[in-house]
Amino acid sequence: MSSKRVLLSENEMPTAWYNLQADLPKPLPPVLHPGTKQPIGPDDLAPIFAMELIKQEVSQERWIEIPDEVRRVLAIWRPSPLTRATGLEKALKTPARIYFKDESHSPPGSHKPNTAVAQAYYNKQQGINRLTTETGAGQWGSALSFACKMFDMECKVYMVKVSYQQKPYRRSMMQLWGGKVTPSPSEETEAGRRILQADPECPGSLGMAISEAVEAAVAREDTKYTLGSVLNHVMLHQSIIGLEAEKQLKLVDDFPDVVIGCVGGGSNYAGLAFPFLRHRIAGKEIRFVGAEPHSCPTMSRGQYRYDFGDTTQLTPLIKMFTLGHSFVPPGIHAGGLRYHGMAPMVSLGVELGLIEPIAYHQLECFEAAQLFAATEGIIPAPETSHAIRSAINEAIRCREQNKEECILFNFSGHGLCDLGAYDRYLAGELEDYAYPQAKIEAAIAELPDL
Ligand SMILES: *Cc1c(COP(=O)(O)O)cnc(C)c1O
Repeated sequence: MSSKRVLLSENEMPTAWYNLQADLPKPLPPVLHPGTKQPIGPDDLAPIFAMELIKQEVSQERWIEIPDEVRRVLAIWRPSPLTRATGLEKALKTPARIYFKDESHSPPGSHKPNTAVAQAYYNKQQGINRLTTETGAGQWGSALSFACKMFDMECKVYMVKVSYQQKPYRRSMMQLWGGKVTPSPSEETEAGRRILQADPECPGSLGMAISEAVEAAVAREDTKYTLGSVLNHVMLHQSIIGLEAEKQLKLVDDFPDVVIGCVGGGSNYAGLAFPFLRHRIAGKEIRFVGAEPHSCPTMSRGQYRYDFGDTTQLTPLIKMFTLGHSFVPPGIHAGGLRYHGMAPMVSLGVELGLIEPIAYHQLECFEAAQLFAATEGIIPAPETSHAIRSAINEAIRCREQNKEECILFNFSGHGLCDLGAYDRYLAGELEDYAYPQAKIEAAIAELPDL
C-alpha cells in the first residue's frame, strides 16, 4: 500500500530558508519612498521593521539559516504532513496524483505562524518588546499573538471592524494568547480618526488597518510593525513549506507537474512554490497556478504598477500587481484574499509568465471545499478552497486528457473558525460577485504616476 501521509521527523526540518531573489531572471524593481519617490534604503525602514528583517528583505543570498530558537517553536507543529488526496482522486476518477501540503496543523490553524515566529524572534533579538499589526479575518493577528506569546512580547492588533464584529473566535484566540485587539478604523490613531470623520460607519479594510498599525508602531520607541504577507522576508520564512514538500515528494519518488495555491498577499503560495520555481528557472517543466477570488482579482485584472501598501499612502511604493490602494473589496468570506496588492516576487513571476493567475467565484470554491471535506475529511478555510477548486479542475483536465500528472497544492489552513460562512453556504445565502470593471478602473486611476 502506498502511504497516505508522508511525514518527516523533527530533525529533518530544513535548517535554512530559500530566497528566490538569488535566482530571479530579473531583479526586483526598487522600493520607493512615498514622499520623494526615490529608492529607499535600510535607514528609511528602520523605524518600522527590525533590522535583521530589513536585511532579509533585500538579501541576494540563496540560503539563510533558520535560528535554532525559531526552529524550536516551529517544532510545535513542523514538519507538516504532505498528504496524498486519495479520496479526492477516487471521487474525481482522475489518473492524476494529488498531494496537499497541510499547513492547518499550526496552533492558529494556518501557514501564517511560519513567519510570525521568525518576525517575533528577530524583533526580540533587537530588544523590541511590542509589535503592532493589522488583521482581516484574524488569521494573521492570531498567528502574531501566538508568536509574541512564545517570545514573551506584547502584541497589538488592529482588526478590520466588520470582521471584529462577525468573526469572534479568532478574536478570542488572540486574546487567549495575550494579544490586544482594537476594531479598525479606531479613534486611537490619526489615520483612524480621519477615516471615521469622513465615514463614521466605515466597515474598515486591510489597507486602513495597516495605516493604523504603522502609525502606532512609529509612535513608540519600544514598538515595531509586522506584516503577515507581501514582503520579501515573509516569502523567505514561508519557503520552509516548499522545502519540506520537496523532501517529502522525494521520499515517494515523485515530483510536481503543477504547483497550486490560493493567493491573497502571496505568502502561502510563494512558500510552497518558490523552492520549485527555482527548478523551473533552471529549465525544468513545471506549471505554477495562483488562484484568487473574482471579487478581488488582483493578478487577473489588476495592473503591474507602483502603488502604496495602505489606504492612506503611508507605506513605501512597491512595484506589484494592484487593484489600487483605494480599492475596497466586497465582504466575501475568504477574508484573507481581500488585499488590493500582491507580493512583489509573485507579481514579477506573473509578469514574466512563470505563474498563471486564475480567478474563481466563491460558490464554486465552497462546492470544492465541501467535496474535499467529504473525501479527505478536513474542512478547509474559505481561502484554501480556491486552491482546492484549482486542483480539482486540473485533476478533471487530467482525466479528460488521460494524463497521469502530479498535482501539488497548498492546504493553507482549516475552516473551523469559518463555520459561519459554511452555514450561509449550506443555507443557500451566498451569491457570486465579480467586481465591476468601472470600479476597478476608478481605483486604478488613483495610482501614483511614476
Ligand atoms: C491569510 C491566508 C491566506 C492568504 O494569504 P497569503 O499571504 O496569500 O498566503 C490564505 N489562506 C489562509 C488559510 C490564510 O489565513
